[in-house]
Amino acid sequence: MANASEYEYDLLVIGAGSGGVRTARMAAATGARVAIAEDRYLGGTCVNVGCVPKKLYSYAAHFHDSFDDAAGFGWQLPGPASFDWATLRDNKISEIKRLNGIYQRMLEGAGVTLFNARASLADAHTVIMSSEHGDTTVTAEKIVLATGGWPWVPDFPGSEYALDSNQIFDLASFPKRFLVLGGGYIAVEFASIFNGLGSDTHLIYRGELFLKGFDQQVREFTCAQMEHKGVNLHFNTNIERIEATQDAYSVYLTNGDVLEVDVVLAATGRKANINNLGLDKLGLSLDEQGKIPVNERFETALPSILALGDLTAGPELTPVAIAEAMQLVDHHFTDTVPKALDYSTIPTAVFCHPNIGTVGLSEEAAREKFTNIRVYSTDFRAMKHTLSGSHERTLMKLIVDDATDVVVGAHMVGEEAGEVIQGIAIAVRAGLTKEDFDRTVGIHPTGAEEFVTLRTLTRT
Ligand code: NDP
Repeated sequence: MANASEYEYDLLVIGAGSGGVRTARMAAATGARVAIAEDRYLGGTCVNVGCVPKKLYSYAAHFHDSFDDAAGFGWQLPGPASFDWATLRDNKISEIKRLNGIYQRMLEGAGVTLFNARASLADAHTVIMSSEHGDTTVTAEKIVLATGGWPWVPDFPGSEYALDSNQIFDLASFPKRFLVLGGGYIAVEFASIFNGLGSDTHLIYRGELFLKGFDQQVREFTCAQMEHKGVNLHFNTNIERIEATQDAYSVYLTNGDVLEVDVVLAATGRKANINNLGLDKLGLSLDEQGKIPVNERFETALPSILALGDLTAGPELTPVAIAEAMQLVDHHFTDTVPKALDYSTIPTAVFCHPNIGTVGLSEEAAREKFTNIRVYSTDFRAMKHTLSGSHERTLMKLIVDDATDVVVGAHMVGEEAGEVIQGIAIAVRAGLTKEDFDRTVGIHPTGAEEFVTLRTLTRT
């Protein structure tokens, strides 16, 4: 990598989210002259209005069950537990501020120049930085677009009353009645969070069953568990209109129902965040999914302009953006040619209650891909709930390609499913067989040991 470039920087990253920050830091560590532009918050969606605050709120919501569970173990609480939204929200705000500071120090420590400005492309090597101090231009040999995604809300009468996931974290007051539209990750997670925190919660989904694309048994099991915890699920319907009343909202559904609620969240997907980025000016167009097409080196149609993370095709997940950042830096700033990322075995967790953890193929996808499969599944009441009295159940499931015995999918719905599946994901990624799973000695007593003791075939 030549440092004596005709440009001010070797690399300029636009967007200081998970992918952008990792790209900037790793590139700077190779000796490259790196700058990053960000006009909002350091850390992007994940740190500020995504994974991190969501997980903190999910922890808060889990306490509800924990208080209920405690009595069977002999704990007597002084009275009914009460929840204070302002404490949670403000503690969350302080924690995010702390993380923003860590990101800033990390970038500075790595020698990355930070532009607190809105960046837009002027040409293949020039970016216009706009801030309150006016516009300046900065040149770089390579430019990485890492501006992520932005929530999208459909247009219907009263849609302006719906909040999006950027706005839901800092509500001034706690909604006694909460409604979320959508059937994806954000909808089921926030339905579980507000239900756990004590809101009367409704989830509205236009299809038959939420979490399209996940394993059908996982979807059905999650549905039953969430209903059992008190979430009101309304499927095969949509919001027709929202009307504001004096201090609440009337939500009219296409099935004729009308719900009175305090807050409506639209969790209806995200789109690439490319507003005023200047793609048109450079003739860079989007694919049919609205993403920026890139090759395996993350180069757009203009080779000096690279893109990664939620702007490009592939799962919209922080660890994916980070993995892509490492690959991009290897390709462009080192002599290493990295192995291509394996997008087929990316594990994921949905932090609904109970949590979902999954890696590899759903049973339905495996049936399409392989001639014969074997399915091993178990559904049980965790040991903890023998004394807690809770009726919460856990689902674990392995899907095996019969011809090779390779485990091609692993799924769990239950406490800490993400933690469990992270470990299982290594085995699935490595292509281990059901025999390998069977030969692994369990850890007793855990729920996770079921993954290595599943001997009875459920179906083929
Ligand atoms: P998703 O794409 O997961 O879900 C969007 C939902 O909105 C779908 O159920 C979709 O229905 C529904 N929808 C779309 N358009 C309309 C419409 N016009 N009217 C009614 N419903 C509509 O998006 P999310 O917003 O939930 O999350 C965005 C992404 O962020 C996720 O896909 C995920 O990659 C990431 N994320 C990851 C998390 C994690 O790792 N735990 C947590 C949160 C987000 P249909 O299914 O019918 O298309």
